[in-house]
Amino acid sequence: MIDEKIRSGFHKALGAWFQAAGRSLPWRDDPSPYRVLVSEFMLQQTTVAAVLPYFARWMRSFPDVETLAAAPEESVLKHWEGLGYYSRARNLHKAAKAIAANFQNKIPAELSQLRSLPGIGPYTAAAIAAFAFDQPVPVLDANIARVIARLFDCRQDITTAAGRRFLQQAATALLHTSGGRQHTSALMDLGATICRSGPPECSLCPVQKFCRAAAPASLPIKPARKPVTRLVEWCALATKRRSVFLIPSPGPRWKGLWLLPAAEPRDAEPTATLTYAITRYRVTLHLRSTAPAADWTPFPLDNLPPMPTPHRNALALALTKPRAPIE
Ligand code: SF4
Repeated sequence: MIDEKIRSGFHKALGAWFQAAGRSLPWRDDPSPYRVLVSEFMLQQTTVAAVLPYFARWMRSFPDVETLAAAPEESVLKHWEGLGYYSRARNLHKAAKAIAANFQNKIPAELSQLRSLPGIGPYTAAAIAAFAFDQPVPVLDANIARVIARLFDCRQDITTAAGRRFLQQAATALLHTSGGRQHTSALMDLGATICRSGPPECSLCPVQKFCRAAAPASLPIKPARKPVTRLVEWCALATKRRSVFLIPSPGPRWKGLWLLPAAEPRDAEPTATLTYAITRYRVTLHLRSTAPAADWTPFPLDNLPPMPTPHRNALALALTKPRAPIE
């Protein structure tokens, strides 16, 4: 797919650009396996900018595998509060326990051992192997997939098995025999800054002369997005003596978190309304003041348990209203 001279020229050009323009990130500047592990869990479906403050706080509270493995789940979820997709936090916690129990607190370097840990699929295992252990393995996040699809002018839908195979082979063909960390970081940064989604900045690209894309803005090819579905939810706002009544999440979606209880829809004006997006859904969440039910649990407003962001924000919004029904 690519001869050695071209590969070597590509690495030289990309490496020089990365040395000058690569992003400084806390898990890159100190790429210990634990820091990389945490960052990879946090970065799943979340932007770097959103992750940065969470990562810093996490490292202060859970500086190593041992501390995280011994932490109570409620504390782990509280530190994740606001990042969303809470199964990642629960899986990271379980992974830390498995590393403590089976690997003497040392994160394994082998892909197969990484894959055996909770929450670690092929992508995350490859990313940890590359970033933490400097292994030359193909890593295909959205940014790198876009860069590779353009570099090799991939005209297949990259979400199909054939498209994914093409990317995997192309990404493998670009690898050196060593130095996975810099190579992967550089491709990722190229995709994040120059070879962006939509029209790329090809005139600034350090590897333009290696690129085969004739119409880069049209790549990568993916199926059309599913249309947005609108949903309406009603929740109960029950407060008493500066406490709010909550219930533990009854389903898997927000397992381990506390929610405002579900309420019947009403024609009357809601106490507060907030909209939020989750995957392809746009949800309108209305709060309605009610008396507490017997099985709801009161929590002091200044010491709330971990709550999903929409419920926490809706509660905060309701409490800022002049007629917020706080006793
Ligand atoms: S030349 Fe343009 S399309 Fe090709 S890799 Fe560089 S930025 Fe992307």
